[in-house]
Amino acid sequence: MTDLKTTKRRAATPKPAAQKKPARKSPSVDNPGKVLKRSRYSKAEAYEIFQRFHADNPEPEGELDYVNAYTLLVAVVLSAQATDVGVNRATKTLFQIADTPEKMVALGEDRVREEIRTIGLFKTKAKNVVRLSEQLIRDHRGEVPDDREALEELPGVGRKTANVVLNIYFGHPTIAVDTHLFRLGNRIGIAPGKTPLDVEKAMEKAVPAEYGLHAHHWLILHGRYICKARKPECKRCVIYDLCRSTEKEQIDAIPELAERVAGWITAGKTRLDA
Ligand code: SF4
Repeated sequence: MTDLKTTKRRAATPKPAAQKKPARKSPSVDNPGKVLKRSRYSKAEAYEIFQRFHADNPEPEGELDYVNAYTLLVAVVLSAQATDVGVNRATKTLFQIADTPEKMVALGEDRVREEIRTIGLFKTKAKNVVRLSEQLIRDHRGEVPDDREALEELPGVGRKTANVVLNIYFGHPTIAVDTHLFRLGNRIGIAPGKTPLDVEKAMEKAVPAEYGLHAHHWLILHGRYICKARKPECKRCVIYDLCRSTEKEQIDAIPELAERVAGWITAGKTRLDA
């Protein structure tokens, strides 16, 4: 005979709530997640990835405004934890008044601070801009050195900033690992690493020599506009069929742009002449 009390008790016991899967976090410098030991791509596959980026955008450009090596250096220093649009807005007037270290020193820290006050960390950045200008005048005759070590000795200039200046202004095939490159390297598994320096070294190995100069820009633009942190836009991705990311959106057919870009390569064309 069924024990009525037990049946009632069982019926009253609430079912455990279905466990919600925690949302997958994109790799970031603070939280790289599980890092692969090596790239997910063969040399030929990595080559095709950069060939696609090249076909789609043969002459990629950075988005910071500058008029010479010095203003580029200052703009990159100001861009830490700020958007390029925000930096351009702030430097529009600043670079009209001060486009050399001498003029910046003459302007003085208080005035520089006023000009850039819309940018995060503006107090520290104003101090660094004036101090680095003084150091350029003292140690480099007011010129921006084409040398990593010398650049990294300047106040507010770290490895990433030095890499950007060396790449954009001096034409070295350096890879500056910012938040976008760090995420991409780990997310798609082309240059996995726990730290920005690990990713930089892995990316240097992955990028074919002939694409070294523009790789940095392609990757930043791809991370900023397509393979975004929260929701990658896989449908617009030119490397969709090559991508081995576990975060890739599953789509029935290869996105049209990826197919077209692959077709341009076969036909020996680029987006410019497509
Ligand atoms: S397919 Fe998606 S996840 Fe892969 S690189 Fe493109 S946007 Fe990023």
